[in-house]
Amino acid sequence: MYDNIKSIDKFDFSNKRVIMRCDFNVPIDKKTGEITSCKRIEAALPSIKKILESADQLILMSHLGKPKKLVEKNQDFKSQLSLSIVANKLKSLLGQEIVLAKDYLENELPKGKIILLENVRFHYDLEQSKSDEQRDIFAKRLSSFGDIFINDAFGTCHRKEASVYDIVKYLPSGIGYLVAKEIKMLSAILENPEKPYYAILGGAKVEDKIKVIESLATKVDGIIIIGAMEYSFMKAMGKNIGNSLCEGLDTAKKSLASNYKDKLIFAKDTVVAKREDDNFVDIKTVVAGAIPDDYIGFDIGDETIKLIEEKVSNAQTIFWNGPAGMFEVNPFEKGTYAIAKIIANSNCKCVVGGGDSVTAIEKSGIPEEKFTHLSTGGGASMEFIESNGRLPALDIQEEKNAGN
Ligand code: AMP
Repeated sequence: MYDNIKSIDKFDFSNKRVIMRCDFNVPIDKKTGEITSCKRIEAALPSIKKILESADQLILMSHLGKPKKLVEKNQDFKSQLSLSIVANKLKSLLGQEIVLAKDYLENELPKGKIILLENVRFHYDLEQSKSDEQRDIFAKRLSSFGDIFINDAFGTCHRKEASVYDIVKYLPSGIGYLVAKEIKMLSAILENPEKPYYAILGGAKVEDKIKVIESLATKVDGIIIIGAMEYSFMKAMGKNIGNSLCEGLDTAKKSLASNYKDKLIFAKDTVVAKREDDNFVDIKTVVAGAIPDDYIGFDIGDETIKLIEEKVSNAQTIFWNGPAGMFEVNPFEKGTYAIAKIIANSNCKCVVGGGDSVTAIEKSGIPEEKFTHLSTGGGASMEFIESNGRLPALDIQEEKNAGN
């Protein structure tokens, strides 16, 4: 799909300064300020080590959180979202000094073999600007720190941001191991996937998933619709969903009238409850689309789990994205965890599309190795599927190299 993009293995880094965009957007415990999962830092190590084998200097850069949001709330983003905590973790993982560069916009970089630029989104007015000119100012500055640019931040490849997109205009560019793996694994479920092939799509927002449904509909044998999304479809069919979440009703109606409507497979039953303040009472399972008026749907029921088990046992390929219910709250994680277990124990190629589904797998304790691929990019993996395997930050590398 991206035949002209250069892999990290194809570069000679000797005597070079390499600037690499990583995704160190790690989850941080608000109370303790500690990193709660170092997976994203560990995942960058293969590319980091490869570059360090021969390069003169490695400059790492990443975003962390959303500084702009904190500014809007008059909060101090510089202490809350500093990458210093990532620098410390990297130092212990690599056993090498990491120098955090704070004022790299105005000042020269500090000396050091490995430099980590402070959160690129501290300069959100440049990094994330809608104006090409503004982003270019930042991209040029960043490019002055290196001789070669490597993108290993798949989770931001769907964004036109200076540190991942515009910088490509100014330096010979390539991709790291993480990005290469994502392209390979996600492309495999778009190009000639082995059949039978089922997609399992959950979550809350139909609007967010509709393009994914449309893109996959031409490739799969069926799309199993679960999660709160299913209630919008039920309501669109004139069925009763009580007080359950219902977003994107018009989109669901259009989808039910589309030429792929026969590919849609719906949940059979729903776990419902009444909500009394913070408590969930009167939890029971009802037939899907027959939710009593004052009840809310929170999970799929056993009949739906059986249906998924049956489809997965016949499948060669499975793509899963989105929880089956409100998995953050006990006991409504049951459906989501059951799907994780069914897929993990199957013999099919199974790709999980990031975000909540990957979080649910981590929480369920099922080892990652049981899955063919757990995508690291939530929004990016969805956009990759929607656009049939294209992302802006990869397109720009492809186009530049194809033109050379
Ligand atoms: P999305 O961002 O669209 O993938 O939706 C994920 C969110 O949807 C998670 O926070 C889930 O808790 C929530 N969710 C999924 N199913 C339900 C449901 N049946 N009722 C309430 N929330 C749900």
